[in-house]
Amino acid sequence: MATTTAIPSKTPAQTATPQTPAYPGQVTGMYILAKALKNVGIDTMYGLVGIPVTDFSYLAQEIGIRFVGFRHEQQAGMAAATHGYLTKTPGVLLTVSSLGFLNGLTATANATVNCYPMIQISGSSERAPIDLDQGNYEALDQLNVAKGLAKAAYRVNRPQDIPTAVARAYRAAVSGRPGGVYLDITTPCLGAVMDKSEADKLFFRPVDPAPSQHPSDQAVTRALKLLASARRPAIILGKGAAYAQIDDKIRQFIEKTGIPFLPMSMAKGLMPDTHPLSAISCRSTVMEQADVVMLIGARLNWLLSRGQGKWSPDTKFIQLDIEPTEIDCNRPIAAPVIGDLESSIDAMLAKLPTIKMSADPQWIPSLQAEAKTKNARFAQRLADNANTSPMNHWTALSVIKPILESNPDIILVNEGANTLDDTRNAVNMALPRHRIDCATWAIMGMGMGSAIGAAIASGKKVVAIEGDSAFGFSGMDFSTACRFKLPVTVVIFNNGGIYNGIGENLAKTPDPAPTTLDINARYDKLGEAFGAKTYYVTNPDQLKTAFTEAISSGTTCLIDVQLDAASGKESGHIGYLNPESLQHITV
Ligand code: ADP
Ligand code: MG
Repeated sequence: MATTTAIPSKTPAQTATPQTPAYPGQVTGMYILAKALKNVGIDTMYGLVGIPVTDFSYLAQEIGIRFVGFRHEQQAGMAAATHGYLTKTPGVLLTVSSLGFLNGLTATANATVNCYPMIQISGSSERAPIDLDQGNYEALDQLNVAKGLAKAAYRVNRPQDIPTAVARAYRAAVSGRPGGVYLDITTPCLGAVMDKSEADKLFFRPVDPAPSQHPSDQAVTRALKLLASARRPAIILGKGAAYAQIDDKIRQFIEKTGIPFLPMSMAKGLMPDTHPLSAISCRSTVMEQADVVMLIGARLNWLLSRGQGKWSPDTKFIQLDIEPTEIDCNRPIAAPVIGDLESSIDAMLAKLPTIKMSADPQWIPSLQAEAKTKNARFAQRLADNANTSPMNHWTALSVIKPILESNPDIILVNEGANTLDDTRNAVNMALPRHRIDCATWAIMGMGMGSAIGAAIASGKKVVAIEGDSAFGFSGMDFSTACRFKLPVTVVIFNNGGIYNGIGENLAKTPDPAPTTLDINARYDKLGEAFGAKTYYVTNPDQLKTAFTEAISSGTTCLIDVQLDAASGKESGHIGYLNPESLQHITV
């Protein structure tokens, strides 16, 4: 193993160059880091630079890693996470020490919760003064802060360890249940000097970083037996199933067994929402009546009422997942199938001919009849609102829905409260991994980062439908989409507030209510500042023209959609999660 050839004689300065390497014979930790990333196949990095990682970003760009510089680390992290989700390789986020690290860590934590593979690489200050709490520049014990929030966290103190650290971070991000990994690289390590000939011997590619994990034969047989016994079976597809990129196999399994399916939000499009076996409009019926439910890469978490509530207590569950500790977490799982989804679905497909389904012949027709009624009611709702003035969410969606549905290859990013719920319900998806939203934590503030990550990772057009409040969290990074000339169209549903713009200040002072933003804000002008093509629309005809033009332009566009301040209700569909109803305090 190589050793550092020159040890700094005194404490390294906080700049990343405590020593000047004698080029070309010597290199720094920064060089090794850039090479190590490139060597494992990382071709894109999202981040925001400053001390001590600026020089590293230049080196990385020089050797051919695309660097996408953001205005806020959280958004760079959301981009990296989305990149990871779409490519099954780790998205990489680069941050500076202290606050930059913390800003980025929110995205790494969110990635971990959502099972997106990403690596946050952060420069950190020199160890000794941090450990003795001596008040150094941007001093923070970043590794220990990250440990509780990331899937794995490592610190690198010596340049010769960087290639190992990169390989381990890669493996930790993509193997098993994917997640966010933190890699802490100290300033002295980034600046430390090694002989190039020694450094070049260190690089290696991890072999089989996301190994397949085969389910046991017994587990597969048990699951199939239960499925065969079902009278009213159903399948729930989660974003783990979309992530696995085994679209054809999942389709085969569903079509061969003839089991109706219900997609979770980001699994929409894995099977077309309009497929005859889609039970997307019959969620409650599935929960109340299905006797056997097979979860494929979906967790029985709060988004599925944790298996309680409307769910029949008699429903038996089959769960296909890579993470054994997920099983039984909310209610007993009758048939767990632990393995990577490709291996598990392969094994189940192989044994399908050995079972005979015994579903009630009325089950699917009854779901289809219910879906037909509900879909007609939904269509009527859109039609009834199509010409409302001022526009409400449904008015805008009655314009956007048909246009997006006839452009199924556009990736849809979506966040907000009512904007999220209504768009998800209105817009049918036809292709896998074309819907990216605030997902498991239902957070706000993923929009611009995810839209940029999606555009870069896929090379496709992206439309981000954003509530005005949601947009506020990441709005400045619209400028990043502009600088990188990405085909991203941002559509802002401006109803002037969090939930809506009619909040009341109970103190009757001139201050706005806590939920009130600005119904008169001109978000299009913000887009103009960065050279985007912008539109301000107040009626459906204008919206139709603007939206059609924007998505066909292939450039970065922003459409400010003026809604009624009264459109939208508090917390959208999840108002039930609020503690108590509003209580007036009288002193
Ligand atoms: P949703 O919110 O769409 O229900 P979740 O993120 O809650 O999806 O669940 C995804 C599940 O998929 C997680 O439990 C995760 O462990 C699992 N998963 C992710 N990738 C794979 C894979 N390749 N094989 C098997 N399971 C996977
Ligand atoms: Mg709003």
